[in-house]
Amino acid sequence: MLAKAVHNAAWGQLRQFITDKTARAGAMLVAVDPRETLQTCPDCGTVVAKMLPDRTHRCD
Ligand SMILES: [Zn+2]
Repeated sequence: MLAKAVHNAAWGQLRQFITDKTARAGAMLVAVDPRETLQTCPDCGTVVAKMLPDRTHRCD
C-alpha cells in the first residue's frame, strides 16, 4: 500500500516538474491517452497489434 502511494507520488512529481519546465519554456504540456499510441500507424491510422518482441512497425 505504501509502495503504491510512493509510486503515485513519484509520477505526480514528475508530471508537475515537466509541466513547470514546459511553462517556463513558453510551451504547453498536453497529456495523451497512451493506449495504443505505439500500435497506431503514423501514415494511415490503422491499429496494428504488436507483441513485445515486435520492434519495428510494419503496415500492410
Ligand atoms: Zn498504415
